[in-house]
Amino acid sequence: MSKQKGSDLVRERFYRVFLEHNLKLTRPRRALIEHLMAKKGWHFQAEDLLRELNEKSPGVASRATVYRTLDLLVDSEVLTRTRVHENSYRYELADVEGHHHHMVDIRTGRVLEFTGDEELHRMLDRICAEQGFKEHYHVLEVYGEFEQAQQSGEDVPLHDPGQLGN
Ligand SMILES: [Zn+2]
Ligand SMILES: [Zn+2]
Repeated sequence: MSKQKGSDLVRERFYRVFLEHNLKLTRPRRALIEHLMAKKGWHFQAEDLLRELNEKSPGVASRATVYRTLDLLVDSEVLTRTRVHENSYRYELADVEGHHHHMVDIRTGRVLEFTGDEELHRMLDRICAEQGFKEHYHVLEVYGEFEQAQQSGEDVPLHDPGQLGN
């Protein structure tokens, strides 16, 4: 019942970020927001977003705009950024699902979120305590292959990390 309300709140948070930074809601920014709103739960890399935006409306957003806007949204904590390789990051909407981990299909780029891992967290706590290490946060990404290919056309392959950063 609160689904619609939730997405309105997310949209509002996006708008507020631009407002607070005295940035106009230009066509590229609006296109970016609407694309992210339409793809709830999407885990994406900047290049995925850039490509999809321009597939939908050619020329709507430049690479610089997409990267700058993503930086701004991360700084404003509307998006979270996870470092997945040396020079490669994955983005998702912040704190919609709470703390979770990812299984990443290396062939299709499908990302599955998983929680229900109290045992895992207890184990991490114990290991850190044994080493006298105080955890601030952790990121868990498990790479592999799903046995069954997914039907939905939603997923976008991950980019070869070797090609990023050019
Ligand atoms: Zn965790
Ligand atoms: Zn996630």
